[in-house]
Order: sequence, then C-alpha cells, then structure tokens
Amino acid sequence: MKINSNLKDIKKELLRKSKHGSRFIDEKSLKEIDDFCEKYKKFLDKSKTEREAVKETLLLAQEFGFKEFDPDTKYEAGEKVYYVNKHKSIIFAVIGKNKTKNGIKIAAAHIDSPRLDLKPNPVYESNDMTLFKTHYYGGIKKYQWLAVPLAIHGKIFKKDGESIDVCIGEDESDPQFCISDLLPHLGKDRLKKTVDEAFLGEELNLLVGSRLLIGESDQQKESEEMGLAKLNTLKILNESYKITETDFLSAEIEIVPAFKTRDIGFDRSMIGGYGHDDRVCAYVSLMAILTCQDVSSTVLVVLSDKEEVGSDGNTGMNSSFLKYFVEDLAKQDGVEVRHVLSKSKCFSTDVSAAFDSNFSSYYEAGNSCFLNHGVVVSKYTGFGGKSGGSDASAEFMAEVRSLFDGNNILWQTGELGKVDAGGGGTVAKFIANLNLDVVDVGVPVLSMHSPFEVVSKIDVYSAFLATKSFFQKDV
Ligand code: MN
Ligand code: MN
Repeated sequence: MKINSNLKDIKKELLRKSKHGSRFIDEKSLKEIDDFCEKYKKFLDKSKTEREAVKETLLLAQEFGFKEFDPDTKYEAGEKVYYVNKHKSIIFAVIGKNKTKNGIKIAAAHIDSPRLDLKPNPVYESNDMTLFKTHYYGGIKKYQWLAVPLAIHGKIFKKDGESIDVCIGEDESDPQFCISDLLPHLGKDRLKKTVDEAFLGEELNLLVGSRLLIGESDQQKESEEMGLAKLNTLKILNESYKITETDFLSAEIEIVPAFKTRDIGFDRSMIGGYGHDDRVCAYVSLMAILTCQDVSSTVLVVLSDKEEVGSDGNTGMNSSFLKYFVEDLAKQDGVEVRHVLSKSKCFSTDVSAAFDSNFSSYYEAGNSCFLNHGVVVSKYTGFGGKSGGSDASAEFMAEVRSLFDGNNILWQTGELGKVDAGGGGTVAKFIANLNLDVVDVGVPVLSMHSPFEVVSKIDVYSAFLATKSFFQKDV
C-alpha cells in the first residue's frame, strides 16, 4: 500500500470490519428472515425435550421426502435418509454425487437443554402439600427456576411395556406447576449467603397439589391421617394416566419452563424462548439439509443428546452411533470409514455467548460475538488454557472465511467470555477426535442456560445460510 494513500482507504484495507446486520439487510431479506423465524418459533415450542425434538425434526424431514435408513439398501445420489438412535438422537443424510469417497460434510447440533428431571421416587407430601423431587440436568442457575411457571414433559413406561406420553402445562386449559421461593421479608439471612449456599438442588421441589383425598364417611373426614395429599395426587394421576407410584421408576420426566416462544423488542428483532441452546442450531442445520440440492459430497446432520452433561452415554456425541452410521455409508461405496472420516469436515453448530452490556466486564469486547452481527465462528472453546475444547486449524478457518465471504454470509468471530472468566465446550471435540476438521459455528445467545434465552432473528437466518453454503460447496 502506498504511503500517501488516504486514511479511509488504509482503514478499509487493513481493519477487520464489524458488521451490524441492519446495515446490510434489505426489506425483502428481512421478510424472508421473519418468515423463517416464525417457523422456528413453532418448532421450539413443540420441542422442549430431546425426545420431542427428534419427533418434530423427523416429521419435518419426512415432509421433504426423507426415508428411514436401511444399511442393506444401495443409495444413489440425491437420496435422503434418516436414522433415529434410541429416540433421543437422530441423523439425517443426503447422498452426494461423489458419495463418501472425498469425505463427507457434517453439521452437528444438540437437542438437550438444561432442565430439571424427576427423581425415580419423586412423589412426597409435606405439610399437606404434594411435591415432586427433582434432580437438575446441565448447568443451571438454580434460583432462575423458582417462582416461574413450569410444565411437565416426558414418557412413562409401564411394566408391561406400554408407554405414556406426558405433556402438561402447555395447553391454555392445562394446569401448570412451580417451585416456591422464600418471600423477601424473611430473606435477610439468606441474602448474606453466597448464591451456591442460598439455592440448594435438594430444595428444587415442584409443587403439584394441595388438596387431600377424603373419603365419604364422617369418620374419615375428621381423621388426622397423614399422606392424604400425596394420595390425592396419585389418584388423579391414576385416573388420567392409569399409573401408580412405582411407574415413575421407569419414566423420563422433564420439568421445563411453561412459557411460549415470543418476539422480543419493539422492533421484534429477537426471539425469547426456552432451549435455543441448542435447538436453534438443530433447526438451522435441519433446514439446511432439507433445502440443499445436488450436493457433491454426502452431507449429514447429527442431532445429539446429553451435550449439557458432557456428551457421554449412548445418545451423546461421545457414543459411536455417528461413526457406525458413516461406516454403513462408506461400506456401500467400498471405502474404509477411517479414510472417509479423515477427509471429512464438520460444523459443530452450537450457540455462543453474545456480548451482554449488563455484564460487560465478563467479556472481552474485541473477541466477543454480538447480537445481529451474524453467524459466529469460534476457532476454539474450552476452559482456562483452552482445556476440554476443540481448536479449529488455521487452514480450516481460512476455508470457512473464504466460503462465507464468497457467499455473502453475515458472520463474525466469537469466544465464550474473557480468558479465565469460565468457559465451555461443545460436541466439536468428540467429532474432532474422529480425525475430522471441525469448527464451532453458531448463533449468539443472551442469557444462555436460563429458562428464557434470547437470540436475534438475523443471526438465526445467517446461521441457516452459512450451514447451507457449507453443504452446497463443491468438493
Ligand atoms: Mn450448546
Ligand atoms: Mn449449553
């Protein structure tokens, strides 16, 4: 660059630009973004658990012609398949023209979110109230779950194998549930405690009833027998679901916020809801694979469970189900799975922590992601000295930059807060361990892991376009 260039030109040439989407997106594109997000909002309301997310994504994929994967069928380019793993994780694939021989492209998201699970023996009575014992799942701030409306979702399996779907608290006519909180008038001592000391996991007990089961006779009405509140609840449950107390042993019941997804802001630019982490990336990745066409390499979306508790277990990303699936595809093409995986590329699509001006001291603004600045690319995740995360190679970062710039994708970089402020990981490392090139790509979110997280509509759509461009790119 010439030394006599003017400052404006030098700036343009040398500085990395940070872009607010409003500066680049026209009215027509905003309409497209809003339409996309309306569908996403409906999906989010119907997918409050991993089982529900599997069911909803499957329904959407079937509308687009996806068929159940059969390892013995020989698939041709353009064919679309799905594989459900134990009702809680799912894979979608579109067979490419080159099939698996040059590697495949994967977008991996997770469909579990922080919540409260019921314990195996949840029902108890205290001072004539019926409550359910819970055990929290994932990284929650316990106080955020007190005094908010909650719903009960899940599945109960009876001894004879019959299964019962439970979803109470979502319909306008349903009752809801809550965990009571101590009134501020009596909170003086509690306020002196640390948050960890003041809010205990064992106190997250769900209020589910307060009337007693009283028999017809006068004698029963006057008796001071205990246990009648619990019995009343069990009777109602038996009438509604034909279950007994022991049936909770073979159930997976999740307590989730009962709120519906809503637009946020006078300009309706944001979406507030439960479980954007990471159903927003699950939805975006799904939409990318449902709408991609004539892909050269086989593309695949994997939606996994258990990310919020470390990805272990047979439905988590640390399980071999993804590798087994790719192995089945590779076998059809007469190639070794290890060769396919080593040549493959992956977007680990998960939310990132958006810069929050209320808590700016926890972020380093120069490396944070911002709402409305587009899809976030995080080179690495992890705690402390990048422990427990995944670090994308400079080579792959260059490829991603060039892909996004070439396709006019609104994108930004991000990291999960200041160095040593905390940290976190995604499924990236488990996939990287299979020797793929992996990078974290996702949507910035405010109030992550709270019952009501916030994302920007522009970012949601940018993440969709980004993932789609990754799938469509010829290799
Ligand atoms: Mn996540
Ligand atoms: Mn999370």
